[in-house]
Amino acid sequence: MQSKTDVLVIGAGPAGSIASALVHQAGFKVRVVEREKFPRFVIGESLLPRCMAVLEEANLLGAIKQKNFQEKFGAKFVRGDYEVADYNFAEQFTAGWKWTWQVPRADFDTALATEVQRQGVPVNFETTVTGIAIHEDETSVTTVQHKDGSTEEIEARFIIDASGYGKVIPRLFKLEKPSALDPRKAIFAHVKDINRAEFDEPNRIIIVVYAPAVWVWIIPFANGTTSVGFVGSHEFFSAYLGDLNEQFKALIAGLPHLQKRFGDAPLVFEPRKLESWSSVSNTFFGNGYVLTGNVTEFLDPIFSSGVMFAAVSSHLASKLVIRKLKGEVFDWQQQYTDKLQKGVDTFREFVAAWYDGRLEKIFFAKNPDPLFKSQITSVLAGYVWDETNPFVADPAKAIKGLIKRIDARDKFLQQS
Ligand SMILES: Cc1cc2nc3c(=O)[nH]c(=O)nc-3n(C[C@H](O)[C@H](O)[C@H](O)COP(=O)(O)OP(=O)(O)OC[C@H]3O[C@@H](n4cnc5c(N)ncnc54)[C@H](O)[C@@H]3O)c2cc1C
Repeated sequence: MQSKTDVLVIGAGPAGSIASALVHQAGFKVRVVEREKFPRFVIGESLLPRCMAVLEEANLLGAIKQKNFQEKFGAKFVRGDYEVADYNFAEQFTAGWKWTWQVPRADFDTALATEVQRQGVPVNFETTVTGIAIHEDETSVTTVQHKDGSTEEIEARFIIDASGYGKVIPRLFKLEKPSALDPRKAIFAHVKDINRAEFDEPNRIIIVVYAPAVWVWIIPFANGTTSVGFVGSHEFFSAYLGDLNEQFKALIAGLPHLQKRFGDAPLVFEPRKLESWSSVSNTFFGNGYVLTGNVTEFLDPIFSSGVMFAAVSSHLASKLVIRKLKGEVFDWQQQYTDKLQKGVDTFREFVAAWYDGRLEKIFFAKNPDPLFKSQITSVLAGYVWDETNPFVADPAKAIKGLIKRIDARDKFLQQS
């Protein structure tokens, strides 16, 4: 079988759906191929407000609103007995959406892909890319295998690779390079949150400091279930024996407030693990293709930045693909990679500062300065391209400066 399209999108996760909707709306022929049958499980349930403008521009926001997902208004950090640092998006420094959702991704991704199809984009599920040949003139032939085993060759003027952890083009073209970040592991499950009413409001992600460089996510959903996940080094988890169920139970029992809330909470599915997810492609674009979403680079889950980067990169990439198809000439490095990299680099510094304890010191400082707090809140909301925010312009310097202020104030208070 052979067929033709202007743009072939690989993957129907958020990156693929957003990219295909935007290119379709510009009047080009788009086709999406997706390996799995939807709904399918994927991790990444806490969104950031920066996604919302992209979903709106791609005409996908309405379909998601109808799903009544749990609204998310901020991020709450908890340590010790229950010391709390609450970051509320309403107080963010950068103008823009101040809320978002917490979503079971199977439902969220299915809603996006269904809406994209409703708008007129064909999405072939259970269709796996197995090979790609790109010609010098940037047109390409992609070989896909359908569920029934038949193969098809799809000719395209351009490819958007949004295959997430599948990393189709980086793997086929050997573009993967090791991440500089320490390898980590997560053990997680969805639970029936039967004790939720006695604890926090569900409208935030809760991030619990569990041990040095070990943390827990608590992401409540609108249907009364909650995602609970532990993240740490491989060495940390090696102390937990037994199957994943036993390990998950022992991890929950490790903190009294977790045990009280989740100790008797029935599991929605058996605990799962993921490990060593940080990855980088040594280029984000090439002759006839662009990479978007997780295929480009995935850092770490601590600040829930994955879907936000998927949205922003697909938005940026699809606008450039449209210009390309219209015959415009521009510099992909400058217009795409450099812009995207700016946001990635801001989060990279925040991730490093989380694991080495600098951010814990800032988050839990008493009486935080409202301006600095609003600037940090903007980063936590995903506004990592606003250069008027010093925590974006030079995150390492801004974090260092704030820690110095906190130390000086603490010293003054001790002396007085
Ligand atoms: C432990 C952990 C926790 C996380 N928590 C969060 C969080 O709270 N918030 C957040 O925003 N992000 C989080 N993330 C990151 C998040 O999972 C990803 O960033 C996000 O899913 C990226 O979306 P995407 O559209 O790029 O890729 P995906 O959602 O992975 O979609 C890619 C699609 O491509 C398809 N595909 C793959 N290979 C092929 C092929 N050969 N042919 C056809 N189709 C193919 C796949 O089936 C898949 O459906 C977390 C990640 C980890 C590891």
